[in-house]
Amino acid sequence: MSSSKASMRFSTALLHAGRPRGDGYGSVAVPVYQTGSFQATSAEELADVFAGRRTGFCYTRVGNPTVAAFEERMRVVEGGAAALACASGMAAAFLSIAGACQAGDAIIAPRTLYGGTLELFGDLERMGISVRLVDEVSTEALEGALDDSVRLVFAETISNPRLAVLDIPAIAAWCHAHGLALVVDNTLASPALARPLELGADVVVESASKQISGSGTVIGGVVCVGGSFRWDPARFPALAPWQRFGPLALMAGLRKSLHKDTGACMAPTTAFLCCVGLETLSLRMERACANALELARWLDQSGLASDVGYLGLASHPCHELASRQFDGRFGALLTFRAGSRERAFRFLNRVRVALLASNIGDARTLVLHPASTIFLEVGEKDRELAGVHEDTVRVSVGIEDVRDLISDFEQALG
Ligand code: PLP
Repeated sequence: MSSSKASMRFSTALLHAGRPRGDGYGSVAVPVYQTGSFQATSAEELADVFAGRRTGFCYTRVGNPTVAAFEERMRVVEGGAAALACASGMAAAFLSIAGACQAGDAIIAPRTLYGGTLELFGDLERMGISVRLVDEVSTEALEGALDDSVRLVFAETISNPRLAVLDIPAIAAWCHAHGLALVVDNTLASPALARPLELGADVVVESASKQISGSGTVIGGVVCVGGSFRWDPARFPALAPWQRFGPLALMAGLRKSLHKDTGACMAPTTAFLCCVGLETLSLRMERACANALELARWLDQSGLASDVGYLGLASHPCHELASRQFDGRFGALLTFRAGSRERAFRFLNRVRVALLASNIGDARTLVLHPASTIFLEVGEKDRELAGVHEDTVRVSVGIEDVRDLISDFEQALG
């Protein structure tokens, strides 16, 4: 049914992987199957689909051809063994942890994660999964938080907005030496900058609401798994019922239980928009990264802002690691300090090209004051650790003509 070819290079896979064949009309774009259920041709066929003896679609919460096309495209693009589309990035993060853990288990994660994920950890604690927060993801910090109840490490490729970079091969090696899985939130990097599974991670989660869909049109998420981690039943009792699926135990457990039972599915039209968005991911990221570098350099030299945080500046503490891991590109996110909360608000109220909005990874440039918005619920110490001060402005750089962005920032900061 699908046209995926293992040998496709990244930019080609973005366009062709998972494109369904055989819809009867030769549709070039991924068709949208906007339907809740599928008519069976016989009672026997439907019984076979329910029993798993035959592949097929019966009900969109369980599976849908448009969603399956997006999953296959993501699987190929991430270099994974299987992918599962979800209702949001938060749903993907929740499922990756709750699928592998049960009450009494623990995970380790950095305090510098996206604020929404830190709030999710409160829910997990309530369900009996404890979260050990560390200041940074180093092997020393992880050692200090390790005990027999730990099942996995959850971290971001690039943290938002501090821009701490995860050394994926080194941390994956440490995790595997201790029988733990490494789950990576790759939202900020996107697969255009990093493919964590190829670098040694076991599970990658992404918010498809950002670079993947690309134009701020949807809320969606995805979980991808690699094909080598052994979900040892002694270490992962939550996955014991799915042991026969080997390295796909987590994916089988999610598909057959938690994802289906919580109704965390992606809508078909969302999957369509994600497929369309993926087609231009390489081009958008190339332009957004180039714009971000130029804007960061200009801000750094303008005298109108201080502490410009961008991975492409040699002054950033993670610059070298980012250069190595992301092949000379540094992402679309940057931060700067405006001098005071008032000056930050003044800037945000004066921009004309950039938009004041609480999202990232849009084709348009978006600006935000994190301390009064997405970090409102986060305590002061953790906020500072995440690089969020009273005067910090976050910029998600888009693909506009960078000269218009620079003029806009100049008039708004002047
Ligand atoms: N992970 C990161 C790094 C994010 O920045 C976000 C949202 O901003 C999410 C996950 C959650 O994604 P969603 O809003 O699609 O649930």
